[in-house]
Order: sequence, then structure tokens, then C-alpha cells
Amino acid sequence: MAAILLAGVFLVSGAPETKRLSVYSPSANFSLPVTERNGGDYVGLVEILEPLGAATARVDGRTSRVRYNNLDGEFTDGKTRARVQGQNFDLPGSFVVDNGHGLVPLGSLPTLLQRFLGAPVNFRETSRRLFIGDVAVHFTAQVNKTSPTLVMNFSSPVNPMIATEPGKLRMVFTHEPLVPPGSQSLTFDSTVIPSATFQENNGAAEIAVAGPVPLFASFSNDGRTITITPAPQAVARPAPSPAQAPPTLSANPTPPAAPGPPAAPNTSGPLSTQYFAVVDASHGGDERGAALSDQLAEKDVTLAFGRRLRQELQARGFNTLLLRDGDITLGLDQRASLTNGAHPAIYICLHAGSQGSGVRLFTALLPAGGENRGPFLDWDTAQSRFRALSQNTESSLASEFGKRQVPVRSLAAPLRPLNNVAAAAVAIEIAPPAGKIADLDSPAYQQVVAESVVAGIEMVKDRLGAGLEVSLSDVTKPDVTKPDVTRPDATKAGATR
Ligand SMILES: [Zn+2]
Repeated sequence: MAAILLAGVFLVSGAPETKRLSVYSPSANFSLPVTERNGGDYVGLVEILEPLGAATARVDGRTSRVRYNNLDGEFTDGKTRARVQGQNFDLPGSFVVDNGHGLVPLGSLPTLLQRFLGAPVNFRETSRRLFIGDVAVHFTAQVNKTSPTLVMNFSSPVNPMIATEPGKLRMVFTHEPLVPPGSQSLTFDSTVIPSATFQENNGAAEIAVAGPVPLFASFSNDGRTITITPAPQAVARPAPSPAQAPPTLSANPTPPAAPGPPAAPNTSGPLSTQYFAVVDASHGGDERGAALSDQLAEKDVTLAFGRRLRQELQARGFNTLLLRDGDITLGLDQRASLTNGAHPAIYICLHAGSQGSGVRLFTALLPAGGENRGPFLDWDTAQSRFRALSQNTESSLASEFGKRQVPVRSLAAPLRPLNNVAAAAVAIEIAPPAGKIADLDSPAYQQVVAESVVAGIEMVKDRLGAGLEVSLSDVTKPDVTKPDVTRPDATKAGATR
């Protein structure tokens, strides 16, 4: 089972990077901000201990007493001498108390953590990546010359941020303790994918794959395999003629030519495939979603329905990308990034539930206070510009469900990743038509639901298409004004529902 995903053309925010430290341990992977004190790099002592165990601190004048699990430590503002569990030792720089908050020099972390945790610590100081215990993720890379395809296998599932730029595809691993292969630069016997380099910087590892043609990454094997191939070059737009073949986003880079109206100029960046709709089958892989019955997991219902919906949309000429076409785990941020990279006119997220009957439609309820000024969209409120369009679509779908006697309710909810999507976005939660769970799996019922969705989209396609023109013209502006969605930190990633 290989899941085909689009490597988004999203760019990383151009804001100056803050200094970060990433910590990898068997219990938690996390990043912390680094601050400068006394001309050196410092990090909060309790902040680094807290994700690893029970940590408290009490500041008493210049003395800070720290308790981690059952161990005690004592640190003094302005002094290098410290004590953990009755044993004195010296920090490489003095301890700092700032607003009742203890900070330690980065260079002290290996000794300090070894004393508190009793586990081996490996600190890659120049890149600020700290490994506790045996947590490293390894990878291998191999080019299949005939395809040509670069296959990278990882020892644990990975979820890098992917960005493309002329001449290379970059994968940035912040949450994974990825370690370099034998050599930092890999050369392959291929003119299409000649080389890749590994580097580490600011709490992250990066693999950059060089390629004279635009490259495209797909994930499979539950996130343990990334396959990189030349990107498909099709520009397919919604066509009035029915039944255009589904796009083949496979390792074979020969997409079908789009019939119908003249293709839009290829302006959307290195990846030029234009999707009208992105369909997202929620959950998948390790994440089963709701247990609808003993036999039926939500992830399987959303996938079956997603495939049917894609087929119906394609049949009506709406070029459609199904984000997950297999049983794989995809994060919410990844789903939103892939969607934003595909620049669709409409994003449709699918859930299934056992409560009630018929369908519930959701549009985003955006967090208060999110502002979208300047060239970069705020990740949490990327949806704000598209809210009216999303609501139009929601009511059009609702009326089509009504026409087909499917009970329907329209709601707004803070349902991720709707708020992170820079396109019209609707979530559909499908419950059985009359309370019988097994009906969820019924092709007849799924077909009625899919037809309602397609008919609803048909009614607003011109408005949605107009939105598409806007987003296409936006991305053709000079680079500095290119709107894009900044990537959140892992700490911002909330649960869905
Ligand atoms: Zn769900």
C-alpha cells in the first residue's frame, strides 16, 4: 500500500528564526526557545525537566531549589557552583535567575541532565539538538535509476516539513531525532536526482535533495518511507466534459493531458498540477478515529467514502486530490500543509460518526484575535479570508442533501485543520441515515451522500472557481508578497475531536 501525497509548495515563514533547542528522549520530543545571557546561550532549567518527569522549582532569594522526580538540586544566581543530590559540580557558566525563573547555560546540559536523569546524553551543540538515551532515527537513501526514484527508508515514522525551491526539495525534521548517514553528502548515479545532503541547524535536521527538475515527495509504509520522484507537470482545470481520467500521481511522471478549456498559465510554482478539490479522509494508520462498531473503524469509512467522492468529483470534471489513499497516519498540520500546497478551490474533510442520523456539515470557527496582516497568513486563522466562501458552500451542500431526503445540520466548530486551510473548507461528518451503524458502510448510502456533495459543489463552482483565480493570481506576485501559511510549532498542534 503506497499512499500518494503531494509535497506542498509552501514556503517557510521569512521571519527571522528564533534560536531553539530540540530535545529528544524516549518519553518526549520537544523544542524550547534559547535566550542569550552573559554572552552565551541559556535555557530554562524547569522547562527542560518538565516534559521528562515531575519537576518543580522554588526560588528563595538568590538560591533556586529544583526537585526532579525524587532528586534535589540547588543553584545560585550568578554562581557556577551547583549541587545535585548532595554532589557539587561546576556549570560552564553561571546560573541566572531572571524574574524568579532559573536559567542554565546550554553547555551545562549534558552533565546536568545526566545527573538528574541517570541516562546517557548526547548533545550536538552546534545544531542545538540534545539526545537522551538511545532514541536516534536512522535512514538510508537509494536511487532507482530506471524510474528515476529516490527511496528513503527511516527507522521510525517521520513527518518532516517539506518545501520545494528551484533546484531542490528540502525536508526539515524538527520533531525527529534524525541522525546523519555515514556521510553528510550522498551522491547518486542519476542525472535527475544527482545528490542529497544532510545538515543540522537550530534544533532541526534537514535533508536537501538536489534535482534539476521539480521534485515531488510521497509517504508510505506508515511514514517510514519517503519516495521522491520528478513532479507531474499537468495543469488540469475543471472541465465541462465528463469523465476525465483521475490524475495518476505515481512514480511514473506522465500525467494525463487535461481536455476542455485552455489551461491556466502555469504560475503556481514548481508543482503545477491544479486541483479543484482536495478530499481528506480523516484519521488513518495508527489513528483509527471513532470505533463505530466492533467491525467498523471510522478511518475505514472515511477512506471508502473519500474514494467514492473523488470518483464522483472526477466524473464531473473536478480534478480531485485524495490526501490519504491508503491506511496511513497523517498529522493535522501535514494535512493542512499538503492542502495549502495544492492550492485547491475547495477542501472537503470527511469524518464518520455513530450519533444521530444523516450528515453534519461544519465550517471553521476561528479563534478570536487572529490577524492576517502582511504577506504571511497566520497558521491558526488561514481560513479567515475564505470563511464566506466556505459558508456558501456549506449551505449549497445542505440544500442538496435536503433535496435527497438526507437529514442535515449545518454547524460551525473549531475543528482542525479547517482553520489552517487557505481555501473554501467544509467538513462533513456522516452518520447512518436512520441510526443503523452498518448503513455507514453501505455503497448505496455513500453514493447518495457523494452525489449530494458533488451537486452542491456544482451549484457554487463558479464562485469557488473565482476564489481559485484569486489564489492563483496571488501566488504570481513577486516573492516578497507571496501569501503563505507559516508553519506552526508542534506545541500548537491541538487534537481534532
Ligand atoms: Zn473523526
